[in-house]
Amino acid sequence: MKDLIGKIENIGCGVSCQYPMNKYTWLRVGGHADVVVQPNSYEQFIELLNLLSSSDTPWVVLGEGSNTIVYDKGISGVVISTKKLKKVEIIEDTKVMAEAGAILGTILNKTIKAGLTGFEFAAGIPGTVGGGIFMNAGANNGEIKDVVDTVWIWLAGREIAIERKEIKFEYRKSNLPKGSVVTKALFKLQSGDSAQSEQNVKDYMAKRNSTQPIKMSNTGSIFKNPPEIAAGQLIEELGLKGFKIGGAQFSDLHANFIVNAGGASAQDVLELIELAKNEALSKKGIKLETEVRVIGNKEK
Ligand SMILES: Cc1cc2nc3c(=O)[nH]c(=O)nc-3n(C[C@H](O)[C@H](O)[C@H](O)COP(=O)(O)OP(=O)(O)OC[C@H]3O[C@@H](n4cnc5c(N)ncnc54)[C@H](O)[C@@H]3O)c2cc1C
Repeated sequence: MKDLIGKIENIGCGVSCQYPMNKYTWLRVGGHADVVVQPNSYEQFIELLNLLSSSDTPWVVLGEGSNTIVYDKGISGVVISTKKLKKVEIIEDTKVMAEAGAILGTILNKTIKAGLTGFEFAAGIPGTVGGGIFMNAGANNGEIKDVVDTVWIWLAGREIAIERKEIKFEYRKSNLPKGSVVTKALFKLQSGDSAQSEQNVKDYMAKRNSTQPIKMSNTGSIFKNPPEIAAGQLIEELGLKGFKIGGAQFSDLHANFIVNAGGASAQDVLELIELAKNEALSKKGIKLETEVRVIGNKEK
């Protein structure tokens, strides 16, 4: 690992060893990652991916960590953080080119100011372009798939541009080839009315603020909505709204959110998830599937 870290530093990336992932992820739980690496430029990002793919060390890419839970036993290997790859550029009047680590909210603000419409759905989604595309993030009757034109991925040492029509997006799923890393994306919007867009964003945020536990650490929706019923309503019907294990709790405000009520461990969160899954299946015959991603060294 020492040898690899030296090579990563030679590329020019920032390196933090034994990084506490509860400081990285939004739910504020999880153990340490051996190494978190931050490329400072697009070129460094590609060079880093090429280097890591030729080593035996496991690695994973994270954006804002707003949809990710890390196990308490942490992550062996390298976390590539895209947090410094934030470039957003409006080109050809209605198109936006954004690097993997660009925050969706930044794109939203920039495009509204430029008189463009289409990105308003993303109001209040705290993720990045990479995480958003990987998850096909969505809200307010819109999804990232609706505005994507082209996605650039790095895959096994090559950078490839994939057009929207070739990507089989589904509900909270992109189906990009396994091992793909989103490096940048081109979005296609329309000319619009800034005042109307701003009003829509205000309305979306007001709804979010009154129905979601935004003042407490959380990681967005825990479960995908099953076809039968909204996941939040299901958890409520199971009597689990407000239920707590250790420091983790199904929110009193919105039962499909788990909040860190103070000192939660990843294990507490995962036990709540298992409990809801088991109860949903045994009492209602409904299979709950997590939306949130769990990574790292699994508990024994
Ligand atoms: C308060 C709150 C509200 C939320 N509301 C919504 C909502 O309304 N709708 C919604 O869809 N989501 C919502 N989320 C969840 C989350 O914000 C989205 O899923 C977001 O798109 C995740 O982006 P991220 O950069 O944080 O991803 P991360 O959590 O960093 O990563 C998520 C997954 O994407 C992968 N990934 C990250 N970057 C890349 C990349 N460059 N290439 C390939 N894979 C990558 C990771 O490996 C991981 O598997 C919410 C979360 C919070 C905390």
